[in-house]
Amino acid sequence: MSTKGWMERAEKVLMKTYARTPVVFERGEGVWLWDAEGKRYLDLVAGIAVCNLGHANPAVARAVADQAARLVHVSNLYYTTPMIELAEELVKACFAERVFFCNSGAEANEGAIKLARKYFKDQGRPERFKIITMLGSFHGRTLACLTATGQDKVKKGFEPLPEGFDHVPFNDLSTLALKADESTAAVMLEPVLGEGGVALPQPGFLKGVRQLCDERGLLLILDEIQTGLGRTGHLFAHQAEGIEPDIMTLAKGLANGLPMGAVLATDKAAAAFSPGSHATTFGGTPLVAAAALTVWRTLTKPGFMDGVREVGGHFRARLEELCRRHPVVTEVRGRGLMLGLVLDRPAAGAMHTLRERGFMVNVTQDKILRFVPPLIITRDQVDSFVQALGEILADL
Ligand code: PLP
Repeated sequence: MSTKGWMERAEKVLMKTYARTPVVFERGEGVWLWDAEGKRYLDLVAGIAVCNLGHANPAVARAVADQAARLVHVSNLYYTTPMIELAEELVKACFAERVFFCNSGAEANEGAIKLARKYFKDQGRPERFKIITMLGSFHGRTLACLTATGQDKVKKGFEPLPEGFDHVPFNDLSTLALKADESTAAVMLEPVLGEGGVALPQPGFLKGVRQLCDERGLLLILDEIQTGLGRTGHLFAHQAEGIEPDIMTLAKGLANGLPMGAVLATDKAAAAFSPGSHATTFGGTPLVAAAALTVWRTLTKPGFMDGVREVGGHFRARLEELCRRHPVVTEVRGRGLMLGLVLDRPAAGAMHTLRERGFMVNVTQDKILRFVPPLIITRDQVDSFVQALGEILADL
């Protein structure tokens, strides 16, 4: 069936939650995707920063097939082994001492918000329930997460919203210090704003937030759903900033495309959850945990992160050349393989022309072309993309 035929069928039966790009993907391999007409694309979206090891990764496919033939799901009423091994690996590699597995980013952030509230309730401080987040942030689409999100467009029409969320500008420590009061439980932020425009923290901002949280007895929640798992050239973005949170959320890249999220926390914060206080049927099933273990073992191979930093640095340098050469480009943003090119006009036209030429990219905040390719992309592939992008920018 043709692309048009599939699109007509989709429009009749799917809810209209997405203005989908008119392409039907049928197959992937590494950094490549093929559509229903057999056309090949270099994928710089990776399922929105998800398929970090590329499509149809052979090791992940084998782990999933083996595990599917063994045990897929029994619920969290019982112990299963892949989840235990994965949690051990995660806590070995960061500040955290305990992990709760779930199914998505929003569900992980819901868990983190609930954990922060319960932490203060258990200390006899129920008045401390507010979470301060950043303007421009994105934390997901459940009612609590869209209220936490610092962008009005995701909230419209869903009122009344849950209470208990305040917002301050990103990179503005003094406003944060003014907002944080006796009703505040936690500060929650992305180390690099993703959907909000690939915005980096100013040097010292995250350290300042950590210090403020320590001085006022607040929990620091880092949403590393997009930045974590190697995306910025470090296993977790905060590790390059010299700080540690009390709670961190992960999802996206955890299982290379199988739905999985996680809340990681220190023992002290995690103690607020006890049997019955939080749960999820599917969280950490043997199937997704087996995939995630395989992903993790690849990410932590010696040299893998060096490779991400090297290719990411090269990509950024090439984008900076474009910025110098083309007046339509106003700024290059990002770190590692989480990069953005800010244009002086809506970026949708450039995105569609790139697709016609066989390159998939995505647009955020209207004017920003965002590049979050699989972490296995090579310098040559980056160069072929930058060449095409330069030609397209020259014609804008
Ligand atoms: N947090 C951040 C930083 C994200 O980028 C996203 C998704 O884009 C989410 C949370 C929500 O994740 P999910 O769509 O898996 O619920």
